Amino acid sequence: MKNVYLALGSNIEPREEYIKKALQALNAHQQIAIIKKSSVYKTAPVGYTDQANFLNMVIEVETSLLPLDLLEVCQSIEKQLGRRREIRFGPRTIDLDILIYNQENRKTERLTLPHPRMYERAFVLIPLDEIAPGLVIPAENGKHAADYIERLPESDIKGVRRWTEKGSAEE
Ligand code: ATP
Ligand code: CA
Ligand code: CA
Repeated sequence: MKNVYLALGSNIEPREEYIKKALQALNAHQQIAIIKKSSVYKTAPVGYTDQANFLNMVIEVETSLLPLDLLEVCQSIEKQLGRRREIRFGPRTIDLDILIYNQENRKTERLTLPHPRMYERAFVLIPLDEIAPGLVIPAENGKHAADYIERLPESDIKGVRRWTEKGSAEE
């Protein structure tokens, strides 16, 4: 069994639609199967904060694709869903990041595994902890997602809220 985890994020409407379409596109790929999905979370933007809230989720997939080929598939789905790269860390219809690919540890310009900024991101760690609480993140001194969550400022954690799909009080 492979342990591949992907993060999805969208902050351009219709956000839910972009997330759904990305999930469909991933599942439609012959060499990708979605095994587990976290809840969808609503997240205040971090870093570049002058932008709309995000919907975020993490999924576990099974794939026979090699890491770079998986990245290529992710990027082609982003493109297909109208992703434009204008502002770094800026608004996006869909962002698909590879968080973890088995025990892979690599640092190249095109692909760093595990994702180098996941340790400080509540919007990644909280949904990851939901679906994989027992997973040890395969990095040097790797720990469980919950261990990294513990170190985050309370305000970051509070910025990530479960977004119940229907009938919720959406802003
Ligand atoms: P961040 O990487 O901080 O989440 P971002 O998702 O907004 O920011 P992008 O513009 O989507 O950044 O991606 C920039 C580049 O990051 C991609 O072209 C890709 O080659 C590279 N990259 C490196 N490691 C990864 C990874 N683990 N998953 C996805 N992309 C990666
Ligand atoms: Ca990202
Ligand atoms: Ca990305």
